[in-house]
This record gives sequence, structure tokens and C-alpha cells, in this order.
Amino acid sequence: MRFNIITTIPESCAVYAESSMLGRAQKKKIIKINPINPRDFTNDKHKTVDDKAYGGGPGMVLKIEPIYKAVQSVKRKTKNKKTKHRVILFSTRGKLFTQKEAKRLAKYDELTLICGRYEGVDERVAKYIADEEISIGEYVLSGGELPALVVTDAVARHIKGVLGKEASLEEVKGSYPVYTRPETFRLNVKGQGSNVLRVPKALLTGNHKQIEAWRRKHGKNVPNINANNKTRGQK
Ligand code: SAH
Repeated sequence: MRFNIITTIPESCAVYAESSMLGRAQKKKIIKINPINPRDFTNDKHKTVDDKAYGGGPGMVLKIEPIYKAVQSVKRKTKNKKTKHRVILFSTRGKLFTQKEAKRLAKYDELTLICGRYEGVDERVAKYIADEEISIGEYVLSGGELPALVVTDAVARHIKGVLGKEASLEEVKGSYPVYTRPETFRLNVKGQGSNVLRVPKALLTGNHKQIEAWRRKHGKNVPNINANNKTRGQK
């Protein structure tokens, strides 16, 4: 699966995309993360990608033309193949990204992720170039680069071979609390003496049935989060 990230600051995505799970998956050629700079699709001396907003206002707006040309460059390469391709624009007005959405997007062969900046992106990109708009949460970030990495990471976890041997345990059993050595940890709280923090006994038994029962009791099923399903910590 290929992730094209259209961003004016491609270097901001590079470190994360080359580290850990995403880095390993790229080395194994299961996924490819391909940053594209819309500045490379400008014709003027200053490589202009933004301009003032019609109607006024303080912030700059990303122009449609360099983004259009960047998306076309991707589409040209896959024109004759049966590639399932989806163009996504990150927007604070988009559909909320969830685990369910990640699973849906993992069915595509190629995702092109358009990152906004400044005051946003010329609305014609949302209307005529992107297939859909996504928001990763109800807060405003300075750009679409973090959302692009969030979506790439969450989608990639659904692709076979990316997670390796821990193969999507949360898919089957949900997400549960985990512990590692040491078995006891002494925590000194100033003025309150010390407190010994222990690993739950059930996890130390070596009895798989008991361990699984404990994990089911304390976990939550990630893929089935919905309004009726209370998540941990909620009343
Ligand atoms: N006034 C604009 C601010 C845009 S922030 C607005 O409220 O929409 C700049 C860019 O960052 C956006 O165009 C979008 O691409 C990205 N962005 C910011 N917050 C985001 C979020 N929660 N989800 C997805 N993209 C986001």
C-alpha cells in the first residue's frame, strides 16, 4: 500500500515514517510512504503555494493549482493499473477519524493525503479534488502533517505483515492493560512513605485461560467503539 503525503514540509514526516513500525514495514516493502511537496509543482520563481484569502482575513490559504498538479502526478502513474486510490483532505470540518475508518481505508491500494497549513486550503480542493475530508479530532492543529502520520500509522496496522508476530491482537481480544518486569516496584511518595506496586496476580499464573479472562475483564474492544459501547474511564 502506498501513502502519498502532499505537504509543504515533507521533512516533518520523514523521521516518524522511517522509524519503528512504519520504517520496518517500508523496509519490508509492504508499504511505501511518499512525501510530495506542492512547491515542486509551481512555475514561479518563488515557488508560491499560498496566497491571501478572498474577502480578507489574517491567514494565508493554500492554492489549488500546485495541489491539483501534485495529485495529477500521482494519478498519472497509476492510470492504467487497477489501483484503488483515494484522495483525502485533512480538515477541521471533516468526518471524524476512528478505528473503523482506519480499517475501511486499509482496503485501498493507494491513499493520497493532502495536508493543509495556515488558514486552510482553497475550498475547491475539498469540492473537486478530494474524495473525502477527514478530521482526527475536535481541536485545531497548525497543519495536516500530524493527521497524515496518524492516519498512515492507524491504517498501516491493518495491513497484513505490518505488525509482525503480535498480529493485531487487539482485533481479536481488544485492548487491555499490560505489565512488564519488575514484578514489584517501590514508589516513594514524599511524606507518605513507600508504596509497593504489584503486577496483577492473574498475569503471573502462567495459566492462559485465567490470563485471557483477566484481559477480557479489564480490556475494551477497540474496533467496536461506538456510542453504545462505554469505553474505559467513562461513566
Ligand atoms: N481556521 C482553519 C485552521 C486550519 S488549520 C480551520 O479552522 O479549519 C490548518 C490545517 O491543519 C487544516 O487545513 C487541516 O489540513 C489541518 N488540521 C488542523 N486541525 C486538524 C484536525 N483536527 N484534523 C485534521 N486536520 C487538521
